[in-house]
Amino acid sequence: MSNLARVTVVNVGYRSTNYWVVSAGTSRLLVDLGWPGTMSRMLAYLTRMDVPLEQIRYGLATHYHIDHAGLAQELKRAGVPLLVLDVQVPAIQAMKTWIKPQDNYVDITLQDNVTISFPESRSVLERIGIAGEIVHTPGHSDDSVSLLLDDGSVFTGDLTHPAFAGEADAEIVAASWRLLRDRGATRVYPGHGPVRPMHADVAV
Ligand SMILES: [Zn+2]
Repeated sequence: MSNLARVTVVNVGYRSTNYWVVSAGTSRLLVDLGWPGTMSRMLAYLTRMDVPLEQIRYGLATHYHIDHAGLAQELKRAGVPLLVLDVQVPAIQAMKTWIKPQDNYVDITLQDNVTISFPESRSVLERIGIAGEIVHTPGHSDDSVSLLLDDGSVFTGDLTHPAFAGEADAEIVAASWRLLRDRGATRVYPGHGPVRPMHADVAV
C-alpha cells in the first residue's frame, strides 16, 4: 500500500496507562501523553526504552482526559509539538474541570498546537514516515480519536470495549469499532491493558 518503512511500537506507559511510541526508524510519534505532574517519570521511561525525546515529532492524545493528555504542555515545552484534531479543541478546555491543584497540571495553550482535520492526517503522518491515518472514534468521549496504521495496528485510547458499552452509547461505540474494522484494523493497542486482536472486539 505504501513504500514507507515498517513501523515499530514500544510502550512507555505507567500507572496502568499505556503510552505508545510509534517509530519509523528515528522518526517517532508519541500516542497519549502521561498523567499530570509525571514529566520526570515519562522522561525516565522514554530513556529506558531508548527513545530520545528529540526524535518525537509529535505528541497525540487519543482524547483529553488527564491520564492521556496530562503532560501535553510540558512535552511541548520540551520540544514535542502537540498534534490536535479539530474536534478535540473544545475538550482541551473541558479537561481542566477534572484537575485538582495537587495534580500539578500545566495548562495546555491552544494557539501553538498543530491543529488538523481528519482528512489531513494521512499526509501529516506521511511526512514523518508513518503510513496511516487518524480517524474519529467517539464512544468513550466525543473527542476520542484512533491512530490507524496501514499495517492494521490501531491505537484506540479508551474506546469502550463493545461488551462494556452502556445502553446509551452502545450504538456509537459499535459504529466506531465497525469503522476501524472496515478500514483494516487487525490489532488493537488500547489505552489500558494488553494488545489484543481486533476480532475479539467486533463480533459481527
Ligand atoms: Zn478517558
